Amino acid sequence: MPTSVVTGGAGFLGSHLCEHLLREGHRVICVDNLDTGSLTNIEQIRDEAFAFVNHDVTRHLDLPGPVDFVFHFASPASPIDYLRLPLHTLKVGAYGTHNALGLAKFKRARFLLASTSEVYGDPLEHPQRETYWGNVNPIGPRGVYDEAKRYAEALTMAYHRQQGVDTAIVRIFNTYGPRMRAFDGRAIPTFIRQALLDQSLTVFGDGSQTRSFCYVDDLIVGIWALATSGVHDPVNIGNPEEFTLLELATRVIELTGSQSSIVFESLPENDPQQRRPDISRARELLGWEPLTGLDPGLRLLLERTARHELIGRNPTV
Ligand code: NAD
Repeated sequence: MPTSVVTGGAGFLGSHLCEHLLREGHRVICVDNLDTGSLTNIEQIRDEAFAFVNHDVTRHLDLPGPVDFVFHFASPASPIDYLRLPLHTLKVGAYGTHNALGLAKFKRARFLLASTSEVYGDPLEHPQRETYWGNVNPIGPRGVYDEAKRYAEALTMAYHRQQGVDTAIVRIFNTYGPRMRAFDGRAIPTFIRQALLDQSLTVFGDGSQTRSFCYVDDLIVGIWALATSGVHDPVNIGNPEEFTLLELATRVIELTGSQSSIVFESLPENDPQQRRPDISRARELLGWEPLTGLDPGLRLLLERTARHELIGRNPTV
């Protein structure tokens, strides 16, 4: 039975990945310090092959027994979290990634880094291919996240080239699905929460900035395809359908049957104007592409999540 370690396994994406790995017949060790994740994300997992280890990955990481895969997902990920935890975000990108790579090296495991479309910054190339080097402001407020991930990518390639570690890098574009937190500040959970309460949907700027949204089940299939491939170069995984934020807000109002209106607020600093993955590499190397469009994906999210979770409780009140 292969063993997978998932750092950040009690988070939104990590918990879906743990479930997928168990379905694939893996023993799964979920390593998380519950900074932004929660035990409620994994409490439904009743499987003897699953273990939870409460550990901060910025500290030395050692586990008994053989390990075949290390999926490094631990990191604050939503703007609200990394703006609240700027130093921790940089430390997780640096020490956390060192420790996870060290574990993979010691165990001779395949290592997969959860990187992000944020490495492209506010892109001057559209859509974004993996060959694009990005346009990131290192000293802006978002720099703590973007540069942590860029450093983590550089570190991953160094461990691969110099230490011979079998590595992979997935550049994840905006993903949504059950277990996102209602108050994590990202567009989809925020709009859904506001729509269900008939409150105004808050769109930043004039809403003309674009994003592409991938349903979580599609993302996990892509990550699994990458993990089980021999690919070392970064691969974009995301949904290339592109929507303006205004279109997204309108879709959410229609799908929830809400009475909400839309209000406009000032744009956050260095907010990217456009975001859309070029997924040719994933198609060619992994035979992967997303299957779930935005409307079906939003319906799945609404069906699979209890109303009280979608509305949530404001952690700052
Ligand atoms: P999340 O906040 O739900 O999950 C992150 C998890 O990491 C949490 O469970 C948190 O407690 C844990 N964690 C943070 N610091 C830790 C530490 N020092 N030690 C141990 N655990 C720690 O976020 P998510 O959306 O599931 O993101 C998971 C990964 O995917 C992140 O690396 C993120 O950068 C990446 N990613 C996510 C998206 C997305 O759309 N959700 C997009 C691009 C990249």
